[in-house]
Amino acid sequence: MDYPGNLFVVSAPSGAGKSSLVKALLELDSQVYRSISHTTRAPRGQEKHGREYFFASREDFEKMIANHAFVEWANVHGNLYGTAKKAIEERLAKGADIVLEIDYQGALQIKESFVNAVLIFILPPSWEELRSRLENRGEDAAEVIEMRLANAAEEMAQVHKFDFVIINELFERALFDLKAVVHAQRLKYSTQHRARADTFASLNIPDYLEKA
Ligand code: 5GP
Repeated sequence: MDYPGNLFVVSAPSGAGKSSLVKALLELDSQVYRSISHTTRAPRGQEKHGREYFFASREDFEKMIANHAFVEWANVHGNLYGTAKKAIEERLAKGADIVLEIDYQGALQIKESFVNAVLIFILPPSWEELRSRLENRGEDAAEVIEMRLANAAEEMAQVHKFDFVIINELFERALFDLKAVVHAQRLKYSTQHRARADTFASLNIPDYLEKA
């Protein structure tokens, strides 16, 4: 379905810096909203229900699957994660831009239902850097880090299915790239035509979208 709002999907292996980049984008751009996912994993640290995630039991999550409440869902490292239809469709219909921070399996499902979704993959600059970022976070035990690195290989093998690739070597440069993708999407004919309908009309430009 075609909505007036843009849908951006950001995926990356753990440690590539996806969350920090999306957080910085949201702080800079008040027209982009982050969708809050549902998950069966337990809250970590200071995480709050309804802020980072909607934390759900496996039973409730499975009920939502059965009720077709998700636009996508996936099993990521043993826990279920999903994007509720409600979380995005209303906002997109109102013309807001949404960013989803989800794994590659979810991103590819989104592209099937939202053909205009913009898929962005964040890569680390090297294996050494990815490992050192995971180690320096100090969040995970050694075996968890090894598992994240093994998963990263599998995840990065999907990068060719994405529309844009950002290499997060220098944070500021990667943020600039992410903003550029968002900005370019807003300059596409279909988006401009919708956002600036009055300008198009005053220039007597026919409405090709209406006829399509
Ligand atoms: P974490 O548990 O560290 O917050 O997230 C683990 C992974 O699940 C990350 O790659 C994150 O992007 C992904 N994830 C978070 N929400 C969703 C979602 O709604 N759908 C999918 N497919 N993946 C998600």
